[in-house]
Amino acid sequence: MHELAVTESILSISEKYAKENGASKVTSINLVIGRLSSIVDESVQFYWDIISKDSLCYQAILNFERRSAVLKCNVCDHEYEIDTSLQPCPACGSPNIKVISGEEFFVDSIEIEKADE
Ligand SMILES: [Zn+2]
Repeated sequence: MHELAVTESILSISEKYAKENGASKVTSINLVIGRLSSIVDESVQFYWDIISKDSLCYQAILNFERRSAVLKCNVCDHEYEIDTSLQPCPACGSPNIKVISGEEFFVDSIEIEKADE
């Protein structure tokens, strides 16, 4: 995954939201990252500090929430959650599994400050 492109999209989503809501600045942004996403928090933060300068998002805090991944076994239909990397089915031991969720990455909410408040 390319963190710079991801970070740029977080910035454009946040700027758009801030402008539509008459914000004087963005104070924090809550991000959800699936456990199986290859996005590295530190890389996003690194790019964020650079590209958010001269924007309404300057010094906004990025909060990262890692969601558990949900997998389903193709052999016995067992569904299970994991907090680490991919693991075979705990019920039957089969490695024949599919990912139900865990690869997502999105902006969950944005907190702003208004000029006259
Ligand atoms: Zn199974």
